[in-house]
Amino acid sequence: RTVYVNGSYLPEEEATVSVFDRGFLFADGVYEVTSVLDGQLIDFDGHAKRLERSLGELDMDSPVSMDELRDIHRELVRRNDLREGGVYLQITRGAADRDFLFPEGAEPTIVLFTQAMNLTNSPKAEKGLKVISIPDIRWGRRDIKTVQLLAPSLGKMEAKKAGCDDAWMIEDGFVTEGTSNNAYIVKGGTIITRDLSNAILHGITRAAVLRFAREAQMKVEERSFTIDEAKDADEAFITSATTFVTPVVEIDGQQIGEGVPGTVAKRLREIYLEESRKLAD
Ligand code: PMP
Repeated sequence: RTVYVNGSYLPEEEATVSVFDRGFLFADGVYEVTSVLDGQLIDFDGHAKRLERSLGELDMDSPVSMDELRDIHRELVRRNDLREGGVYLQITRGAADRDFLFPEGAEPTIVLFTQAMNLTNSPKAEKGLKVISIPDIRWGRRDIKTVQLLAPSLGKMEAKKAGCDDAWMIEDGFVTEGTSNNAYIVKGGTIITRDLSNAILHGITRAAVLRFAREAQMKVEERSFTIDEAKDADEAFITSATTFVTPVVEIDGQQIGEGVPGTVAKRLREIYLEESRKLAD
């Protein structure tokens, strides 16, 4: 694979980052994952906007403009001949002698790589996911897409040990989100998902899916829901850039609805795939 590091396209074996990089020492960095379908970027503008917001919240600058960033994404997709998968982008505050205080004048580190993935033909989307619920032990600024992903990583391991696919996180009795996706339920035809705040990541797929749902005259409620309400729902599903819309059929061993992917989730997945391809570039 060819990867991009600080202005250079290099074979992955030759790409290096300093051991003093604050991304490595403090998780002092942000990231984005943009999906690629038919060699095209899906909703790059959405990801670029969220990236700028994440950087701003951490008082960090991007070393490249968002237009340059789009070109780097495209060039990397081209060089790796990527048809379907994702482009991972990470920007950290850069390398400096270890100190909690932000260094002055450090150059941000920027890294991009591609990952080939089968996104459209997903057996998981056909069957539906089994999830467990776990306490949300993350920090209080989940709206910033930082690289501190140990809590979600532990959550996914716990799910795996329980023979499940993923975990939904609970805070004060309410579902925040999935470990790497936004969480939804459907009750009486209404799509319910947590409202935007610092408690969750503002999913780019979430924004697109809710827009498409409203355009299709589906009812949407943005509010918190409990895990008990979820277990009692007609349907459940998740969204993220690389899973699009994926049904959830079991929570904590309890079947949701008929225990098979629901009609609303299946329809939203179809709509999302069709509409997002139109916005691809
Ligand atoms: N929530 C969390 C915690 C995530 O990590 C992600 C994926 N990065 C999402 C939601 C979904 O966001 P997006 O639709 O932008 O991929």
